[in-house]
Amino acid sequence: MRPVKNQYVTLPILTEKQLTLCIKREDLTHPLISGNKYRKLKYNIATAKDQGFDTLLTFGGAYSNHIAATAYAGKLHGLRTIGIIRGEELEVKWKENPTLRKASEDGMHFKFVSREVYRQKESHIFLQLLEKEFRNFYLLPEGGSNALAVKGCEEILDAEDRDFDIVCCAVGTGATIAGIANSATSEQQVLGFPALKGDFLNQDIRKFAHKENWKLLTEYHFGGYAKVTPELVHFINDFREKTHVPLDSVYTGKMIFGILDMVKKDYFPPKTKILAIHTGGLQGIAGVNQRLKMKNLPLIHV
Ligand SMILES: *Cc1c(COP(=O)(O)O)cnc(C)c1O
Repeated sequence: MRPVKNQYVTLPILTEKQLTLCIKREDLTHPLISGNKYRKLKYNIATAKDQGFDTLLTFGGAYSNHIAATAYAGKLHGLRTIGIIRGEELEVKWKENPTLRKASEDGMHFKFVSREVYRQKESHIFLQLLEKEFRNFYLLPEGGSNALAVKGCEEILDAEDRDFDIVCCAVGTGATIAGIANSATSEQQVLGFPALKGDFLNQDIRKFAHKENWKLLTEYHFGGYAKVTPELVHFINDFREKTHVPLDSVYTGKMIFGILDMVKKDYFPPKTKILAIHTGGLQGIAGVNQRLKMKNLPLIHV
């Protein structure tokens, strides 16, 4: 793993409001198992190996960063990987999907299931069927989120980061923000930017977060999970041009958009030091661009 760099961002709006914004470049930790997915896999893979498993089985959507990371990590550690993928229709056309094509090259075996079956992925019956089909495997939940994943995410912040007043991250399942909240100080406030609509998240996060130092900002999901608007694409391209930091449209783009919108609205008092965690996800851009191109919409610059 490469050391993670904190990169300070300069923008006129930050100078005007006397704020410091720094981005923790977890996207650079590893070229393929990037960002928080590396953190979430670390202790799970160690445990799987300790317990003598030779196979990882997990779940995900067609463009999932977790699927991409699990496939590559499995290859690196000599573990077989099985991906239960949402969407039966992909069975015949998954080779057109850049995430799945790469995961397959990394050795992942797929099982495509309907959305209906996918929704029951945690049911006892479905797991029994999987055990019949694939025998012995170490099960990673969707998004890789479990207690060991949270433990890995507790290592995102380090001692130098205690200087920041605010720590921001994007939220999917909530494991990452739980880990960050656990390792942040009680004086720090952790702000989470959910990439999806819905109120279930607070409870999910409470299962793993031991502190009350976090809060969700639910206004910046841009219509829901994996939804991307021309405004968001324009923002991501503009931010990259000005700061040289690439963002993805599912998670980190929405978070940085949210932070800068809150800056404009004077949410943060002058002199506030903000640390934003870049959780990676850049592998997903190729798939997003494929869909934007089909709709004749502007693409994310790469
Ligand atoms: C998976 C992911 C997240 C969300 O992490 P959770 O632990 O599920 O909340 C955030 N950012 C990126 C880039 C991701 O891939």
